[in-house]
Amino acid sequence: MNSRRDFLQKITASAFALPLLSSFKTEDHPYKPQPYEGPALRVAIMGLGSYGTRVAEAMQTCKYARVTGVISGTPSKIKDWQSRYTIPDKNCYNYENFDRIKSNPDIDAVYVITPNALHHDHVIRVAKAGKHVICEKPMAVNAREAQEMIDACKQANVKLLIGYRMHFEPKTLEVIRMRKNGEFGKILFFQGLSGFRIGDPTQWRLNRQLAGGGAMMDIGIYSINGSRYMVGEDPTWVTAQEIKTDPQKFKEGVDETIQFQLGFPSGAVASCLSTYSMSNLDRFFLDGEKGYAEMQPSTGYGPIKGRTHQGELTQPHITHQTIQMDEMAGIILQGKQPVVPVDGEEGLKDMKIIDAIYQAVQSGRKVDLKL
Ligand code: NAD
Repeated sequence: MNSRRDFLQKITASAFALPLLSSFKTEDHPYKPQPYEGPALRVAIMGLGSYGTRVAEAMQTCKYARVTGVISGTPSKIKDWQSRYTIPDKNCYNYENFDRIKSNPDIDAVYVITPNALHHDHVIRVAKAGKHVICEKPMAVNAREAQEMIDACKQANVKLLIGYRMHFEPKTLEVIRMRKNGEFGKILFFQGLSGFRIGDPTQWRLNRQLAGGGAMMDIGIYSINGSRYMVGEDPTWVTAQEIKTDPQKFKEGVDETIQFQLGFPSGAVASCLSTYSMSNLDRFFLDGEKGYAEMQPSTGYGPIKGRTHQGELTQPHITHQTIQMDEMAGIILQGKQPVVPVDGEEGLKDMKIIDAIYQAVQSGRKVDLKL
């Protein structure tokens, strides 16, 4: 750890000059503690809340990504993170002055981990400051905002990635490999169950202004995104029904429970549940003509558990955010191509589906989708 801290203090060269080094390979088990002082993605974390804390902890065992800066509105948190991760004063910002990150050569990318409704403004400001952006899910609160974020990043010539950690998870990738290899035969059906019982009614997740919606934005999105990477297609229609048992807690525009169905071009269908009112809901089931896969838990922090018609999935558990950030370093610095995309367009597709689900709930009708 000390050598990493020393190294952190030493890095001054821009990482853009480094990607040609041949040592940059994430296949070679970067998660065993191995000395590595080569090129790394230098990341400032924006939003030092519960998930930002988890990401930073996980990055301590990354091989190709480092926490080198912070953006926060709380000076005491900044101090704490500075001492924990050896972050110099010049790499610390607040929400008023973070545009100045533009002239900081020690930061390559900003990871936006703030409440959903702030992602749009935060991502666009980071892009304008010329830094690559990693943005948490949901990338925005609707497709229009998501498109504006993509456009801003394109215009600034920076990369935009969405924090879809499951796209790097080994058991998930094995099921995707099997599906691509035809081992399930023609895919017919997907079931996604995503939910938990939410507590404190005063939290931002239950405030439409900050959350942009309810369970669908926060947890239902896992079934939406999962249906696409498990089935391997993008849906062309959606139907949806909302159930609200507690209108006091789940106010107007904050969905409590939504069941939704998706139709895919091949004829496969998905049936999903998104809820803030039920526990033990973290399950994917994929059914094909020749076989099946089931995962439970399917998207929690893990270990993910699952089996297929061929037996148990035995791929190792790796802290999701560690492998995610190492792979994202490869995508940003080296143009590496992930098995399942994590770019802004990928996030936009999910936002278009969420818009359509809300529309289907309102109208009671089937809504066509063009992704
Ligand atoms: P959190 O409440 O724990 O943290 C949010 C942080 O944003 C806090 O530090 C807060 O101070 C800061 N913030 C800045 N401006 C704010 C404002 N105006 N109002 C409220 N807070 C403000 O939330 P979290 O659980 O860390 O979630 C943050 C984001 O990360 C969300 O978009 C969420 O969907 C996403 N997330 C992703 C995963 C995942 O597995 N990929 C898991 C949890 C959360």
